[in-house]
Amino acid sequence: MNPALFISDLHLSPARAGVAERFLRFAAEEARSASTLFILGDLFDRWLGDDAAGDAFNRRLLDALRALAGAGVAVRLMHGNRDFLFSEGAARDAGLELIADPTAQDLFGVRTLLMHGDLLCTDDLRYQRYRARVRRPGVIRAFLSLPRAVRQAIGGGLRRVSESEKQAKAPIIMDVNAGAVEETLRRYGYPRLIHGHTHRPGKHVHVVDGRACERWVLADWYERGSYLRCDERGCAAIALD
Ligand code: MN
Repeated sequence: MNPALFISDLHLSPARAGVAERFLRFAAEEARSASTLFILGDLFDRWLGDDAAGDAFNRRLLDALRALAGAGVAVRLMHGNRDFLFSEGAARDAGLELIADPTAQDLFGVRTLLMHGDLLCTDDLRYQRYRARVRRPGVIRAFLSLPRAVRQAIGGGLRRVSESEKQAKAPIIMDVNAGAVEETLRRYGYPRLIHGHTHRPGKHVHVVDGRACERWVLADWYERGSYLRCDERGCAAIALD
C-alpha cells in the first residue's frame, strides 16, 4: 500500500513564488507515490472567495491538484484559518475532497486524529473568539456577498491587525495548549494526532491516562519545509530539497 503524505501551512501566494514552484514539483513528483495526500490547512495564504480560483496563480495550483487526483491519488483538503472560505464547489472542481476539522482517520491500522491545529491554541482567547465569529454561516454569507475589492480590503486590514497583535503576544500563547491536546486525545481515545498551524514542526509524546500518544506537528513551507510520510511502519518527516 502506498504511503499517506501530509502537508500544511504552505501559505501559497504570488509573493513567495519559489514555494509555489516547489509545491508544483511536489504535486508532480513526491505526491505521485502516495495513496492519499492530506493537506491540513493553510495551503493558500489567503482565500477570500472562490473568484480567486480564476487568478492565473491559483489556476496553476488547482490544475496541479486536479492532475494529481486524476493520476489516482486521493487528495483531501482541510481548511486552515487562512483559507476556510475555499468552498465545497471549488474543492470538487479541483478533484479534492474537503474534510472536517477534526477528522478521524484510520492510517494503516492506527487511529489518527487530523486537525489544522488552531483549535488547540486555547491560550489565545482573542483568536478563539475571532475564529468563532468569522466562521458563523451568516457572517460568511455576508462577507462573500461583498465585491471582491472590498473583501480584499477587509482581509488586508484583518491581516495587519493580526500581524501587529502577534508581535505583542508571547510565543507560548500561539502554541498549542498542552491541556487542550490531552483533552482532545482523551476524548477521541486515539494514539496519534497530526496537525499543523503552529509552524513548530516536531514529534511529541503525550501520556494520557497511562497511554503514550504521539503528536506530529507539520512544518510550514516558508524556508525549506518538509512533509510527513506515514505507512504501516509509522510516520517520518521528510525534508524538502
Ligand atoms: Mn494556520
